[in-house]
Amino acid sequence: MNKKLIEGNNEFVELINSNKNFKEYNANLITNGQHPYALVITCSDSRVIPEVIFNKTLGEIFVIRTAGNVINDGELATIEYAIEHLKIKEIIVLAHTYCGAVHAAVHNESGKYINKILDKIKTNIGSTTNEFDATKINAIKVCDYIKEKFPNYSGEIIPAVYDLCSNKVNY
Ligand SMILES: [Zn+2]
Repeated sequence: MNKKLIEGNNEFVELINSNKNFKEYNANLITNGQHPYALVITCSDSRVIPEVIFNKTLGEIFVIRTAGNVINDGELATIEYAIEHLKIKEIIVLAHTYCGAVHAAVHNESGKYINKILDKIKTNIGSTTNEFDATKINAIKVCDYIKEKFPNYSGEIIPAVYDLCSNKVNY
């Protein structure tokens, strides 16, 4: 295992234990369970970390990450859990600029398992070849798909794009 991860976790434990408020906050999350107020569905890209981008901590946002922020069966089940059990009232589908999955879909690439994702993106973007447009369209179509699968969901479903250059989320 990469030493960076082991050291990083040790630092994190130290950070919590050295801060009384954070320690209490963490204990409360265990006693009272999680009550995240938003579900963020985003890409697995290592540069797109929702907790960092939104400056949030433990217990605040429920997250699903798949390449290209697409939704297959496992993701649908996770969304159902977020809606039905966690009662989350806000879903953000967070795409991002320079997305490798969108790039691969636009350039009609394929792969044994990757096709599960690329086929979804290809269907969503149709003949769009501009990657930025494709990124936006994909996020909107994923939102539409969630609405279609959960017609009784009364919360918000918001498409958004995170700009890697400005670090700004545009809704
Ligand atoms: Zn991506």
